[in-house]
Amino acid sequence: MGTARAQSDQSTPDAEGDITEAAAPTLPDYAPVPRSALGPALNDRGYFVGRVERNLYWVTDGTYQAAFLTTREGVVLFDAPASIGRNLQQAVDEIAAANGVSNKVTHLVYSHHHADHTAASSLFGNNVVRIGQAETRRLLLRDNDPRRPPPDETFTDRRKLEIGGERIQLAWHGSNHTPDNTFIHFPDHDTLMLVDIVNSGWVPIYSLNLSEDVPGYIEAPATALSYPWAHLISGHMGRLGTRDDVTLQQQYVADLSAGARTALGTVDPTPFFVKYGNNSWAAIKGYLDAVADSAAAPVIEKYTGVLAAADVFTASTALWVLESIRLDLGVGIQVRA
Ligand SMILES: [Zn+2]
Repeated sequence: MGTARAQSDQSTPDAEGDITEAAAPTLPDYAPVPRSALGPALNDRGYFVGRVERNLYWVTDGTYQAAFLTTREGVVLFDAPASIGRNLQQAVDEIAAANGVSNKVTHLVYSHHHADHTAASSLFGNNVVRIGQAETRRLLLRDNDPRRPPPDETFTDRRKLEIGGERIQLAWHGSNHTPDNTFIHFPDHDTLMLVDIVNSGWVPIYSLNLSEDVPGYIEAPATALSYPWAHLISGHMGRLGTRDDVTLQQQYVADLSAGARTALGTVDPTPFFVKYGNNSWAAIKGYLDAVADSAAAPVIEKYTGVLAAADVFTASTALWVLESIRLDLGVGIQVRA
């Protein structure tokens, strides 16, 4: 085999060189990830589990996060991200063995219905009590994914849980990232879990973390700060969050909003409509992309080195911020006289 390959390599060096060149696209370079965005090293199975406070723990694979409470009656798990998968039970086993407590997951609380945060749910079988917001149940019934059984117990606005002597407060404050996104407060652990709003240390991706309701998303950090807590489990990336991370995210979005308003008032749409004639979509795309790029440029400059991937996602996020300013708030929308 080795000899045959060697002969083949020798006989077609030029052709192989061409193929390699054609198959490798030119990928853009980005600013380095700031040290402050990174968390603890993962173990050789690809996860880290650590204490948040007392018997509340968090698990990460560097990109996704889950949490669990060990109680005198078993373990309460919060989210079951697909990418962490079977390492969730592994992390629970590790902590339970170290502390001499039960490793049996008895309850699973969903932050929201999205598969990336919940598709490992079925690994915990049918004897787990699943808890989530009423809309989470409706959406999971709709999605009909056997890996994400709908919650058995639901709530609409608020629900206080007491499991194995531990208090957990669930609240729904309106739609934001999704219609069902839930604030999970641990009043005795100085912690809030709020997923897909703030990515601690990183900018949001695409349309403000793919938010279905941009005004709701923009409002969510203030609601988060209205709770007393010191530790944020944000569902994403490799470290826990702080109140400063939430404030920084608010500032980033406020800067984008201000930039979008300015750009809406200054970028001239005329050249785009002149150039594209009856291709209205080409003109609209050219114009709105130009507004978004104009809004994003100073924000990228300000946050590079502060929030990771500011140069990766800010332009696409700016487009959604400006669309929300246009369509939700009506700025720049003129009624024909
Ligand atoms: Zn989500």
